[in-house]
Amino acid sequence: MAALRAGIDSSDLLVVDKAKFPRPKLCGGGVTFRGTELFRDLYGEQPPGAVVTTYLEFRSQVGKLDVRERGAQWVYDRASLDAWLLDRVRARVRVREETTVSAIEPGVDRWRVTMDGVVEEFAWVIGADGANGITRRASGLTGGITGRLVEATYEVGDADMPRDRLDFDFDPILEGIPGYAWVFPSCHGEGLFQIGVMDGRGRVSGEQLRSFTDAYAAKLGFKNIGSKIAGWPERYWDVGTRAHRPGLVLVGEAHGIDALLGEGIAPSMFSASFAAERVREALDRSEDRIAFYESRFAASEEGRNLWFQARLADRLYGRHPFRWLRVLFEMEHLRALAGAGTDAYGRLVGHMPSLVLKYAAQVMRDGLPSAGAIQPARIAMDRPRGVVES
Ligand SMILES: Cc1cc2nc3c(=O)[nH]c(=O)nc-3n(C[C@H](O)[C@H](O)[C@H](O)COP(=O)(O)OP(=O)(O)OC[C@H]3O[C@@H](n4cnc5c(N)ncnc54)[C@H](O)[C@@H]3O)c2cc1C
Repeated sequence: MAALRAGIDSSDLLVVDKAKFPRPKLCGGGVTFRGTELFRDLYGEQPPGAVVTTYLEFRSQVGKLDVRERGAQWVYDRASLDAWLLDRVRARVRVREETTVSAIEPGVDRWRVTMDGVVEEFAWVIGADGANGITRRASGLTGGITGRLVEATYEVGDADMPRDRLDFDFDPILEGIPGYAWVFPSCHGEGLFQIGVMDGRGRVSGEQLRSFTDAYAAKLGFKNIGSKIAGWPERYWDVGTRAHRPGLVLVGEAHGIDALLGEGIAPSMFSASFAAERVREALDRSEDRIAFYESRFAASEEGRNLWFQARLADRLYGRHPFRWLRVLFEMEHLRALAGAGTDAYGRLVGHMPSLVLKYAAQVMRDGLPSAGAIQPARIAMDRPRGVVES
């Protein structure tokens, strides 16, 4: 849709996917406010089937932070959402489902793409094939950190969890998991929730993340309904990420997403829109190169925000997570901004000067938060290998 919006001729476009839609896609399905704006902008309407939430809650043993955005968040079943999105373009663009790309090689002046064993040539390839897609691997472009996530559906049981919020608990950090646990209302029934854990550094084994998730859900009072705890990787954006070679760009998770929460739906739509504009400009000039592609993306609003999220992730999931948990949950100005309802999640880079200045004043008044270990209210699980230094 971004390519059509950018003015690329629909007859020049071909969408290829190895799956048949609706296809299974492991995802919490949460779309924060800026994503909802983008959906309305690109598709002119809200995709059907959302559970609507009104705020995000960040919490840990150190404290709690309500994040109120300028508008609601939506939670989707990704299989249905993606099928709906594909149907919107199907009417205008050629779509080949159940077609696997097995090789992408540079030709003389075009890319040679092997699909189901047949080679076709294309002037441009836009790789939107996810965290470990073939486009990145074949083009040799370097990517960001790969994280690991697991998720399953649970019944509410005795848990006291409202359905109008997205819940993010950073206490897994205390257990050696550099990430957070989430609880989102499920689209599949009033009594159902999606619960998962993100390891934003890909350090903890899938087995340990599964064990943590089950124990975490039980601790909150949720009931396991026998749903499989599935796992999937995520690739995060950072300044070193490369996304362009002549005649080829990466978008979505192939390019990289928000390193702090692993939010991918909105960043993917942003990187797709950015790429579509640049490719259309290159087509207008009959060129296959886009000068300073990566640095222009980094300077864009989305790039600057992804940079900010990556810096926060480096700190919270890095060497001194306890100090940074205290910074995050005790920063007065951040709490005020988050609760004001005038901004959006992932859009704080513009507030950096005031955050730094006001935090410096707070530190001068109260001192620097301790880096000392915070004892977890232990969840019965195997000790993860990702050891945290205090
Ligand atoms: C457990 C989990 C929970 C998450 N929760 C959230 C959330 O709540 N909110 C949020 O915003 N993000 C979330 N994310 C991240 C989000 O799901 C991704 O960032 C987002 O789906 C990326 O979109 P994409 O289109 O780039 O890639 P994908 O959605 O991965 O799509 C890639 C497509 O490429 C196709 N493909 C791959 N290889 C080939 C090939 N060789 N040939 C042909 N086709 C191919 C696949 O079939 C697939 O359809 C979550 C991720 C995980 C793992």
